[in-house]
Amino acid sequence: MIETAREFLSQIDNYPVSSNLEKCLVNSDRAIFILHDQLNLDVFPVELLAQKPLLIFVESLAYATVIPHHRQKLVYILSAQRHFAIACYQQGFPVFNLFTEGSHADGLAEILKQYSNIELTYMSPSEWNTRSQMAELKNKFGDRIKSISNNFFIADVDKFKTKIKKGYRLETFYRELRKQTGYLMEDSQPIGGNWNYDKENRKALPKTVTIPEIDEVSLDIITQEVIALVQNYLPNAFGKLDKFIYAVTRDRALELAQLFIETRLANFGAYEDAIKVGEPFLFHSVLSIYLNNGLLLPQELCEMAIAAYQQNLAPLNSVEGFVRQILGWREYIRVYYEAKMPKARESNHFEFSNDLPQLYWDGNTDLLCLKDAISHVLDYGYSHHIQRLMVLSNFSNLTNTDPRQLNRWFWLAYVDAYEWVELPNVLGMSTFADGGILASKPYVSGGNYINKMSNCCSQCKYDVKEKVGETACPFNYLYWNFVDQHRESFAENGRVSLMVNSYDKKPEHEKQEIRQSAINFINVISS
Ligand code: SF4
Repeated sequence: MIETAREFLSQIDNYPVSSNLEKCLVNSDRAIFILHDQLNLDVFPVELLAQKPLLIFVESLAYATVIPHHRQKLVYILSAQRHFAIACYQQGFPVFNLFTEGSHADGLAEILKQYSNIELTYMSPSEWNTRSQMAELKNKFGDRIKSISNNFFIADVDKFKTKIKKGYRLETFYRELRKQTGYLMEDSQPIGGNWNYDKENRKALPKTVTIPEIDEVSLDIITQEVIALVQNYLPNAFGKLDKFIYAVTRDRALELAQLFIETRLANFGAYEDAIKVGEPFLFHSVLSIYLNNGLLLPQELCEMAIAAYQQNLAPLNSVEGFVRQILGWREYIRVYYEAKMPKARESNHFEFSNDLPQLYWDGNTDLLCLKDAISHVLDYGYSHHIQRLMVLSNFSNLTNTDPRQLNRWFWLAYVDAYEWVELPNVLGMSTFADGGILASKPYVSGGNYINKMSNCCSQCKYDVKEKVGETACPFNYLYWNFVDQHRESFAENGRVSLMVNSYDKKPEHEKQEIRQSAINFINVISS
C-alpha cells in the first residue's frame, strides 16, 4: 500500500539517500536522466529503454527558487514528476529520485562523482539554462554522458532554425507542417479549401451560451504531500494554492483531453477570443499544462481533434484553430526560441523602462478586465490566451513597462510556462520587443475592442465610451498616446496605419488631453 511518495520511494530504497543508488545498479551501470518536462517514455528511443536502465529523477531546489514560481506550478511539476517516477517503477524500471539544493546538473554531478561506473544519457532540455548546465556536465564527464535530441516536438529544429532566422513566417511554416503531417489535408490541399478560419473565430460570447464546468481532480496523498512541502518550504512563491485542479498523471490528462474534445472543442474556435468575467477557462482546452511537460504529446492531441471533426463532433473552424495552435504556433515559437536565444532575452525594442505595475502581483486595481485576468492567474496559475494578450500584455505595452519584466512575470506566474514557450509569446508576439520578427505590429488596443469581446466594461468603474479624463477607460487614452509615440511601428502596416491618420486628425486640444491623461495615469501606476 503506497501511502506517500516519500514512503513509496523509500520502499524501493531509492529515496532520498544517494548511498542507496547502488541497489539500483546491480544489473546495469546505464542510466537515463528524466527531466521534469520530459515525462513520457514513448518518445525515448526503444533501444535505450530495452534493458530497463536506471531512471534518475532530480528535484532541484535551485530550479524551484530561481524565480518565485507560482505555488501551483511547483506543486504540478513536483507531483507530476513523482507520479511519473512511480509509474516507471511499476513498469519495472529501477528508479532513483534525488533531491538537491543545486541545479539538476549539480545533482547529477554528485551521482557521477560518487559512482564512477555510471554511464548517463539525457534528452536535450527545452529550456536554455538547464541545457547549458547539462552541456557543462557533459564536458566535465566526457564519454560517460551522452545526449539525445529532444523528441517532444513535431518540427525538426535544424531544418527550420536557419529559415526562421532569415524571416520565414508562421503561415508558411504552418502550411509546410500541415503537408508534412497530412493533418487536415486532402490530396495536398487543405480540407475545406482554406488554411485557416480565423474570420469565424472572433465571436463575442452570447449570454445564452452555457460554459461547461471544468472537471476537477481529487488530490491523492502524493499531491497533498507536495502541497504541504511547497507551503512550508517555499514561502516566497507566487499565487494561491487552495484550488489545485490539475491532473498529475498521463491517464488523467488523457481523460481531460477527451472531455475537452467532447464538451468544449466544438465551441472553442468561435469563442477563442472572448472574455467573460469570472470564467477563467471558457471553451479553452487547458491542456498546454500537460503538453508542456510531456504527459500529453502534440501529435496525439492534434489527432484527437481531427478525429472529432471526422466524426462530426466539432466544426472545421474549431478543429483547425486548435490544430494551428499546436502544430503551427507552438512548434513555430519553439524553433524561434532556438534560433534567437540567448540574445532574445534582452529584447526591448521600444526601450521601455517602467517597472511592472504592482497590480500584476496582487490584482489590486479598479480596471475590471485586468482585475479579472489577474485573479485567474493568482487562483489557478492560468488565464486563457486572449486575456494574456489583449489585457495583460496590452496594458503592459500601453504603460511603457519594460517587457523583460513582463516576460519574467509570465514565466513565473503560469503553470504551463517554460522559457521556450513564454519568451517568444511575450518578447516576440505580445510586446513587439524583438522589433517585429514574430509579430507585424505591436499588440495594443483601446477599450472598445475589449468591450466588443467581453462583458467586463459594463461592470467596470471606468467608462469605456469616455476618451479622456479621470473616469474614462484608461485603455482609451493610453492607446492613442501609444499610437502617437510609436507611430513609426504602425505607419507601414496597412490597415493599422489608418490609426495614425485617425490620431493626426484629432483636434489639438484632444491630443493634449490624451497625452496628459496618459502621463498622469502612468505616473500613478508606476509609483
Ligand atoms: Fe477594462 Fe476599460 Fe472595460 Fe474597464 S472600461 S473593463 S478598464 S476596457
